Parts: sequence; C-alpha cells; structure tokens
Amino acid sequence: MTTTNFGVTCESVEQTTAFSTSPPSALQRFGLIERPSLDYTPEVAEATAPIYEKVKHIIPAIEWPALAPTIHAINRLKKERNAVILAHNYMTPDIFHGVADIVGDSLQLAIEATHTDADVIVQCGVHFMAETSNILSPDKTVLIPDMKAGCSLAESITGADVRALRERNPGVPIITYVNTSADVKAECDICCTSSNALQVVESFGTDKVFLIPDKYLAANVGNKTDVEVLVSDGACEVHERFTAQELRDYRKIDPEVKIIAHPECPPEVVAEADFAGSTAHMIDWVKTKQPEKVMMITECSMADNVASETPGVDFIRPCNLCPHMKRITLGKILDSLVEMREEVVVDPSIAEKARIAVERMINLKS
Ligand code: SF4
Repeated sequence: MTTTNFGVTCESVEQTTAFSTSPPSALQRFGLIERPSLDYTPEVAEATAPIYEKVKHIIPAIEWPALAPTIHAINRLKKERNAVILAHNYMTPDIFHGVADIVGDSLQLAIEATHTDADVIVQCGVHFMAETSNILSPDKTVLIPDMKAGCSLAESITGADVRALRERNPGVPIITYVNTSADVKAECDICCTSSNALQVVESFGTDKVFLIPDKYLAANVGNKTDVEVLVSDGACEVHERFTAQELRDYRKIDPEVKIIAHPECPPEVVAEADFAGSTAHMIDWVKTKQPEKVMMITECSMADNVASETPGVDFIRPCNLCPHMKRITLGKILDSLVEMREEVVVDPSIAEKARIAVERMINLKS
C-alpha cells in the first residue's frame, strides 16, 4: 500500500476518482426545487376540496388540514418535475386518492408507466416494484420515497438460489412471481402475477414447473391444475398471518358476511373464502357484486381504498398492515420530489435479462 504526501492511500485516491466520474445523480440532473410552504390556506382548502370528497368516508374532517397542504404541494411539484406517481393498492388513502396518477397492482403500475411521457416516476410501493418500473422504462428516472421499503417475499430468494435450483432440476421451467428482485427475475424463464399465475403455469405444457418464491401462491395454483407446481420457501408476512379458524370465527359472528381472500394466503384460508383472487380481481368482485358486507383478507389499506369507491358496501376490516408499504408517506413523497431521491437503477446487464422474463408474461397476457 503506497501512501501519498497527504497521507491518502492509493486505494482511496482511486475510489475518489471513481466517485468523481460516476454518473450525475438525479438531483444533479434535475436540480433542487425550493421546499413549498405547508400552511393550510384558503387556496389549499379550495384546491383540495374535490380530493376530500373522495376520502371523506375514511379520513375525519379534523385530520384534513394536516394532510391537505402536503397533498397540494405534491400535486404542484409533480407538474414542475414532469413526474407521475404510481401507487400500489396497499398505499394509504391519502396517497392512493390524494396524489396518485396511476393505481393498481405491481404489474399494472409498471405497464402503465411505459405509456406515460413523464420524465420521472415516483414509485409508491416497495423496492421490487421500483426495479420493475426501471426495467420496463429504462429512460425514465425512477424514485422510491423510502429505499428501505422491502418485501419478505422478495427477500426470501436470490439470483444465486435460482441458479442452484436450475442446476439441481435441469429442464424444469422456473416461473417467478413478480414480487422478486431484478436479480431473481433475470434468472427465471418468465414472470407471473397472482392474476395470471395459473395461465403461466399451464403455458409451458410440461408436467411440472417451479413457481417461486411464494409457497402459498404456488400451493393455491397447484390446487387448480394437473401440472405439478414445485415451490420454494418464501411467504408474504402479511397474508400468511391469516388463519382459517379466524375466518370461521368471523362467520360465526356474522353469517351474512362475504369473505374474499388473496392467493398469497395459506390454502386453508383460501378454502374458507367465498372468492379468492388478485388485488385487481378482489376490487372488481366487490364493485360488481356490491355485497352488503364484505371482509377483504389482504393488506388493510386496500379495503379503505375500495370502501371510498363503494359507499354502499359495509367493510369489515381484519387489519394486517404491511410494514414495508407503510414506510411510504406523504412527507417522504414530497421529499422525493424536492430532492430527487432515492433513485432506483437496475444494473443494465441484469435489467436486460429480467426484462425478457417480464415481457414474456406481458406478451402471454395479450
Ligand atoms: S404485502 Fe407482502 S408481498 Fe406485498 S410488499 Fe408487503 S410483505 Fe411483500
């Protein structure tokens, strides 16, 4: 190790040089915007009144003056940045109804993002969703308001695990649920969502496939097909907490309630439900059937968001929150737009392979 006159090692000089030649940050490219005032003025009250109309069933009037200035500021900064906000169905109603431009499940969001001419995507969801947006829209700047917004499913498996699985099971197709890192998608044959998992499993025409990483989704799909669906050991920490006994207890208390569940729940929970489907299918089911009372067995913000669009339906909320999704708040979205952080960029060599897996699924869908 050589030491310079200044006591700096050659290694650290190299690091400094590498840093100074690294690509400019999103903040350097777009510049800083002055932080807006967050006073609840008559102008803010008037501009946000139509938004409050949409959420008045779930956000008490007394809370609105605390939320409205940030909502107003975000909506103004979005235009200044030419940004679009993508919000997952599990975002809280102030985000979902207050500032989002596009809402939906993770894949709907990424696909819709490819159709926008915005320069910036602010991903209100978890990290793998921001990666998918970057994979499908590499020319846009993708920001996530909190880099620590992870996912128990995505963290249960790595690209190296998939390579080992393939080595041990040559010739068996490997399908990955979209809730995985870009590194994992890059090693798989195709992606799927909870909406199209059965179709993707049967599309190979083989007698067995791997469907990773959610063991419950894989088991629920396996119950509907003759294809042997092999699993890995991941689970969503929100959906696996529901139990069949809990559902039976709810029915005893209220036999009229309709129960609908997400297929990330254990199979015995799905078996107790009146309907099981993806978040998009659950929303459609409630809007179409308009049951008197419904219980959504999924992350609890989704019930809040659907409730505001179906005021005639009484929602019973067994509340399991996703701690990762809940890291995304209005305050952090505002910081993202002011300071252009945190940028999510997938290594181009990984993104290229991961894009193939995602696009195969999209093409299969259409
Ligand atoms: S709800 Fe489950 S699958 Fe979705 S982000 Fe949270 S932990 Fe991951």
